[in-house]
Amino acid sequence: MLDLLIRGGTIVDGSGRAPVAGDVGVRAGRIVSVGHVDEGARRTLDASGLLVTPGWVDVHTHYDGQVTWDALLTPSCWHGVTTVVMGNCGVGFAPVRPGSQDYLIRLMEGVEDIPGTALAEGISWDWESFPEYLDAVEKRPHALDVGAQVPHGALRFYVMGERGADHEAVPTPAEIEAMGRIVRDAVRAGALGFTTSRTRNHRASDGRFTPSLTASGDELLGISRGFGEAGQGVFEVVSDFAGREQEWELFREMVRQSGRPMSISIGQSDVSPEAWRGMLAAISAANAAGLPMKAQVAARAIGILLGLEATLHPFASHPSFKELAALPLAEKVARLRDGALRRRMLAEAPAPGLAMLAWQFDRLFVLGDPPDYEPGVEKSIAAEAARRGVPPQELVYDLLLEQDGHALLYRPFLNYSAFSLDAVREMLLHEHTVPGLGDAGAHCGLICDGSFPTYLLAHWGRDRTRGERIPIETLVKGQTADTATLVGLHDRGRIAKGMKADLNLIDFERLGMRPPEIVHDLPAGGKRLVQRATGYVATVCSGAVTFEGGESTGALPGRLVRGPQAAG
Ligand SMILES: [Zn+2]
Repeated sequence: MLDLLIRGGTIVDGSGRAPVAGDVGVRAGRIVSVGHVDEGARRTLDASGLLVTPGWVDVHTHYDGQVTWDALLTPSCWHGVTTVVMGNCGVGFAPVRPGSQDYLIRLMEGVEDIPGTALAEGISWDWESFPEYLDAVEKRPHALDVGAQVPHGALRFYVMGERGADHEAVPTPAEIEAMGRIVRDAVRAGALGFTTSRTRNHRASDGRFTPSLTASGDELLGISRGFGEAGQGVFEVVSDFAGREQEWELFREMVRQSGRPMSISIGQSDVSPEAWRGMLAAISAANAAGLPMKAQVAARAIGILLGLEATLHPFASHPSFKELAALPLAEKVARLRDGALRRRMLAEAPAPGLAMLAWQFDRLFVLGDPPDYEPGVEKSIAAEAARRGVPPQELVYDLLLEQDGHALLYRPFLNYSAFSLDAVREMLLHEHTVPGLGDAGAHCGLICDGSFPTYLLAHWGRDRTRGERIPIETLVKGQTADTATLVGLHDRGRIAKGMKADLNLIDFERLGMRPPEIVHDLPAGGKRLVQRATGYVATVCSGAVTFEGGESTGALPGRLVRGPQAAG
């Protein structure tokens, strides 16, 4: 007797093979039969007309805090994700000395835009060492599986104390050795890897750069050697590269001396729109030299969402807006509808800094419903304002007041230099890339890209009209077998006998995303952007149906994944 039979679906099995019709039999959390299955089952799901895929494996999330208070891990759970990996980009909450949690909160708040008040109130802090953090995560059941990585920022602060928060402070040889030993022991206890950030985009909320920004070769190679002693696990790194000739040599040496593979975040920046090609070439060269490296690439542009409740909008730095900033949205909207205030606001100018991103009206778009993440240049605010014969800031002012102030505008800032996603397509199809960078759980008031897995399949497999698409079997493989393999989880990511029964039943015609929205459901009433999906008929984790029609069934089969997993 099977626990679960999925009957008559179109199986896209994660191997990259073309879809085939068939059934999937599940017992004791594993796939036990694929093809024509006769055996009886306690429960049968009719998959006729549906795609049956492995559950998505999202290797780039920031649920390090949320994992301690949210059993569902929204929004990823709504998007067919059955495994998340957290601790990316060098930020997280372990190891941590009792009494020194505040800095890690400020670091996460600054780097990933997660409200510090929510983290302070929500996190249980019942750990000090990384193995204790793993135990704390393991104690709490979730709707999906969770893997953790050791973040360099927390590690540095733990070993070096307050000095560790200063990226220019140099650790002593003894401190470097201690960092390597802690990573080794954490990985032996079940951490999936070690992560570090070398980008000036990452700052703590106290304004200081992320502590690992300029970590020396001595420090990184010392950690790498300790890490290597564990004999398992992966690196995840992010870097600006610009002006750093030695960066690739350093990354290659980290892989060489540890014997561990690495993934590196790569995107297209408007400053040097072709630089990503050189980065992918460097990754190919490393692989050719026997050094396993992958680029993590995004499924679309990484974009900022602008709105009256979001962290940013074109008037956020205006003196007249700052007077209203603390008001509830409804009151804000009422005041902004006043003609005198509108005139005053439109006469003011934005402060330099982040707000200027919102003033590039040729790169600002209405996201719409359903959201359009690949809008042509003719759809920009600048183009629409020109058609209407009004200044673009006036148009934006009025647009922000739509939907009672809930309207969101979209400002793609990576991967959209040429106003198309052709570069993204090339990146996705490169042999040494995996889909990632969604940052689910992070950027609460700015970015909402936890929906990348849904977008990947819906846009590239079905919707795209402005260029070539990608076969769905290639897309599914990318978000399942490829990402699972990247982090050493060989027990999932494919539909085959013996594999973990993590599955999605998808109504492909209906697969898509609702517009992002701001909700106030974080601890301490904190707000965040979330986005719902459509088309996921059912999601199965470890053989249990966790979501049906987008709603939780209450099942919490998700567990901490301790270390790499062998194929079943
Ligand atoms: Zn990240």
